[in-house]
Amino acid sequence: MIRKTLLYKTGVEYGDYTINHVLGCSHGCTYPCYAYMMARRFGRVKDYQDWLEPKLVENALDLLKKEIPKKQKSIKSVHLCFTTDPFMYGYPEVTEMSLEIIKLLDHYGIKCTALTKGVLPHELSKSDRKHEWGISLVSFDEGFRKQYEPFSADYHTRLASMKNLHDMGCKTWVSIEPYPTPNIVKQDLGSLLSQVSFTDRIIFGRLHYNKLVSAYKGFQDFYNDSVDIVIDFCRMKSIDYHIKARTI
Ligand code: SF4
Repeated sequence: MIRKTLLYKTGVEYGDYTINHVLGCSHGCTYPCYAYMMARRFGRVKDYQDWLEPKLVENALDLLKKEIPKKQKSIKSVHLCFTTDPFMYGYPEVTEMSLEIIKLLDHYGIKCTALTKGVLPHELSKSDRKHEWGISLVSFDEGFRKQYEPFSADYHTRLASMKNLHDMGCKTWVSIEPYPTPNIVKQDLGSLLSQVSFTDRIIFGRLHYNKLVSAYKGFQDFYNDSVDIVIDFCRMKSIDYHIKARTI
């Protein structure tokens, strides 16, 4: 797959620029995945099976070598990725390309944030310390993961990869989004938070586009209470936090 542009200004609330150098995502999340819904709607993929087969943008590096210097002055940070996963589990070619892109951003002194439901590679420890490496983590229930993030890395492997980078002095962050209601999975948010208490930043947000959420009586109270728990925890541990819009 060939593209004409790859570096975009994003409208997402905590992002500046983004690079999505893959079409599709083998993790196949069924929350549902907003990126998949959009790719279907605009005819970029035929169906779920097509989405599960990632297609690399073959000219990504050549394109970025031209695009980054042109936009360098206006870029505060670049996020990998909003519509796919940069460290897709079981796809070393995706990880390899993401690492090459990060090297390029390093070369131009541009801050990078990355988020994955795969495994954060240890090679990230060699890059600039201003970057932030994150995992998406909404549960530790493997039954939930198999249903909602079926082909992602298991939670403990995912978390261990982030802890490893933290121990090597990198900044890390956790996206607890889309957080499910108790009728989807019964769990203790406090216990989840305590397992990521070493991280530098936490993002929390509710689950959208899922009928089970609205079917849960008092779901808004549940999210309001959950936000209080997250804020109290982050203040107590001096962790930066961001609550996604429309969660409370
Ligand atoms: S990891 Fe992200 S992009 Fe990939 S299927 Fe899941 S939600 Fe969608």
